[in-house]
Amino acid sequence: MKKNFTLVELLTVIAIISILAALLLSAMNKSRNKAIQITCVNNNRQLQMAFMQYTSNSDGFFPPYYPNWFGGRYSWVKNLVYHRYVTNAELLVCSEVARMPYGTSGGNHLDALRIYVDRLLNDERGLDYQNFAGNRISYGYNWAAFGRNKEPARNNRIRHPSQTILLAENKRHDPDVKDKEDTSSFIVSPKSREDYASYKTFAGYIWPRHDQKRLAVGWADGHATLEQVPTLDPAKIYDAAPFAYGGTKSPEEKGYAENNWDL
Ligand SMILES: [Zn+2]
Repeated sequence: MKKNFTLVELLTVIAIISILAALLLSAMNKSRNKAIQITCVNNNRQLQMAFMQYTSNSDGFFPPYYPNWFGGRYSWVKNLVYHRYVTNAELLVCSEVARMPYGTSGGNHLDALRIYVDRLLNDERGLDYQNFAGNRISYGYNWAAFGRNKEPARNNRIRHPSQTILLAENKRHDPDVKDKEDTSSFIVSPKSREDYASYKTFAGYIWPRHDQKRLAVGWADGHATLEQVPTLDPAKIYDAAPFAYGGTKSPEEKGYAENNWDL
């Protein structure tokens, strides 16, 4: 006897298939996110190694951070790339933002960084290009603690290197740029962003870009981790700054002890 599917049976089969598909999609999404997080931490780890090589060749000093808007010839990134401690543009940007458009200038973060790195490796210092490439990096340098222009920190002066952030994923809120995933090459506290007009445009602050408020962090002793915002003590962000290396406290550093999380 020939038996046809009833409508109920058919609907049941469709429901089961869609539940399975949803489960599969969510599992795929989870493993994709996990893979991106692992890549991001690896990026940070390799950048930390570049910093370690740099400091061991420069008497222990970290690279200075010359902010791009001063027209400085060497931002920390430029320094590390030009001297070939970093030769791969992909290390400089989180995969979550690599292919996002950057502001209104066209192109995405990674494309711009590739051109930038290529030019530097070909011995073009790319001064003209620096101004808009610098901020496409998604890992911000803890500038105030390490890269003060005339007195960069020395590795033996950092009090708690394993607890002091050297690089962290960041985001900036430039009111003129609509792209909410805009990035910067250095991090400051939200407080100093409020106080200094130039920071509003150029500076980023630590931002958990990944699933469940996670972010990749590179620490001053050379290790890199994936942190979840609630588990990371905000005070540690600027723990060693600026006193641990004997720096003086300038007006823009006031408020560093405050909570630097924007959450
Ligand atoms: Zn990331």
